[in-house]
Amino acid sequence: MTPYRYKRIAVKIGSNVLTQEDGTLDMIRMSALVNQVSDLQKKGVEIILVSSGAVAAGRSEVKASRKLDSVDQRQLYSAVGQAILIKRYYDLFQKNGITCGQVLTTKESFSSRGHYLNQKNCMTVMLENGVIPIVNENDTISVTELMFTDNDELSGLIASMMDAEALIILSNIDGIYNGDPKDPESKVIRKILPDTDLKQYIASSKSSFGRGGMLTKSNIARKVAEEGIAVYIANGKKENILPDLLDASKDIICTTFVANKKASAVKKWIAHSEGFAKGKVYINQGCLEALLKNDANSLLPVGIKSIEGSFEKGDIVRIFDQAGHQIGVGKAQYGSESAYELIGKKGEKPLIHYDYLYLD
Ligand code: GLU
Repeated sequence: MTPYRYKRIAVKIGSNVLTQEDGTLDMIRMSALVNQVSDLQKKGVEIILVSSGAVAAGRSEVKASRKLDSVDQRQLYSAVGQAILIKRYYDLFQKNGITCGQVLTTKESFSSRGHYLNQKNCMTVMLENGVIPIVNENDTISVTELMFTDNDELSGLIASMMDAEALIILSNIDGIYNGDPKDPESKVIRKILPDTDLKQYIASSKSSFGRGGMLTKSNIARKVAEEGIAVYIANGKKENILPDLLDASKDIICTTFVANKKASAVKKWIAHSEGFAKGKVYINQGCLEALLKNDANSLLPVGIKSIEGSFEKGDIVRIFDQAGHQIGVGKAQYGSESAYELIGKKGEKPLIHYDYLYLD
């Protein structure tokens, strides 16, 4: 029995936690975090780490022979830096008698259900065997539009894919502030409940959200919390932060996004797949009402007004109402060619089955 409140968690460690001011890896911090993770694991908590720091580690190691553009830089530094990063982790975990393994991924690997399940299986078998997965984006090939927004986005996808009970995003500040974090009057927002409109905070504290990617962090945290996973944004530089956060009897200063009720695994995947959507489906008012009324209603051809773009069976499509507002996403059961022919027809097979439909 673990004394902690969660049995499986994902932890994202940002570059700003792992690197020193000169850009090199902060070995003392890294070692402290590895000790904390090791301690938790020995007490029965399964942990998936999502670690940044590859580009930073590579940048301080390689001196480029010519001026490099941003893509070349990212590729060169991450290729070298990921090797450094994982070696450091490997050695530190070995000292604690624990084995870790590297999982590199790309945005594309989340867009096909097959790749998604392969990744999930890989990490599941690692956890079963006591191996800590250390995940990072494969920055050597993920460039420009193929990139994740950042590792916060990636950590959300991983937490959701691995059915983690909590996602802990470690940064170098205590959480989301209700003002500029540098202003002594500002306080950390301790709890954000599901359905809270984050705009109220953004309006009152633009600067704090603008800095350090807090806006993206918050949006991702909210989405993940909506899926039933508690999200903590906390300071990775604080001593013993991970065991303290998992100990329900302690009141640690951080921002907690309270988890909403559970969504199904497939729906979680669909909710996160919007970025890969291939086509658009416009539905009529009757269809909209039916979908909103009952979450066991599928999207039928009779409710389709028009279709834009081409997609194949299994692709994710976006769904719009008559006024052009997106209302959700879903997985198509057949391709756009067949769908075009069925527009408006009654009694046909649903284009999107309700199990594969996610309304915003
Ligand atoms: N994947 C990048 C790296 O390891 C970091 C991306 C991020 O910090 O969000 O350097």
